[in-house]
Amino acid sequence: MEQPDTDTAANRLRELLNYREHPVTGPEGHSYTAFQARTPTAASPALCDLDVVEQIGSAVAEVVHHTRAANPDAGPLPAHVAAVYDWAREHTAHAPEVEQARRDMREYRHYLEHAIAAGDTSVVRPHRCPDCQTFGLFWPRSNGRNVKALVVCVNRHCADRNGGISRAHSLARLAFERVTEQKMLRDCAT
Ligand SMILES: [Zn+2]
Repeated sequence: MEQPDTDTAANRLRELLNYREHPVTGPEGHSYTAFQARTPTAASPALCDLDVVEQIGSAVAEVVHHTRAANPDAGPLPAHVAAVYDWAREHTAHAPEVEQARRDMREYRHYLEHAIAAGDTSVVRPHRCPDCQTFGLFWPRSNGRNVKALVVCVNRHCADRNGGISRAHSLARLAFERVTEQKMLRDCAT
């Protein structure tokens, strides 16, 4: 997926790492070694810190799993966790189109997840509701930083057409819509 700016999953992952209460620092930055070495030995880490560690760990594991499934010859992992998205794109550049679309959706969903896990829910607003196509989506306060929670559409007409119940969408759905739309725009341009 083309990344026209610096607001990427990789940068959001870096921000999430910085967000942690006890960030790993050192000459190597946030290396896998530092990340893994620290996790089991953290002294009384705050609950939110554990959530963030789990969020990063599962996101990276997901990217690695699918990249290796698509390309068993994918080389060693990059030294820095945040570079895993570049690594995935590089090693699936010749994968079937559907596989590349899944990769892009995964990366975009992670972009949303990393931002929300770090407390920035503003990433939801630029999306249209997949049902009514209006910009009425918001992240309910009760969701907290739970990235598995749903985005809600405030549009009343949208809810009316759903039996009076506000529509709710997963971050995966927003990622699907975004990547599909970008692909359509690219196809139109060529
Ligand atoms: Zn709606």
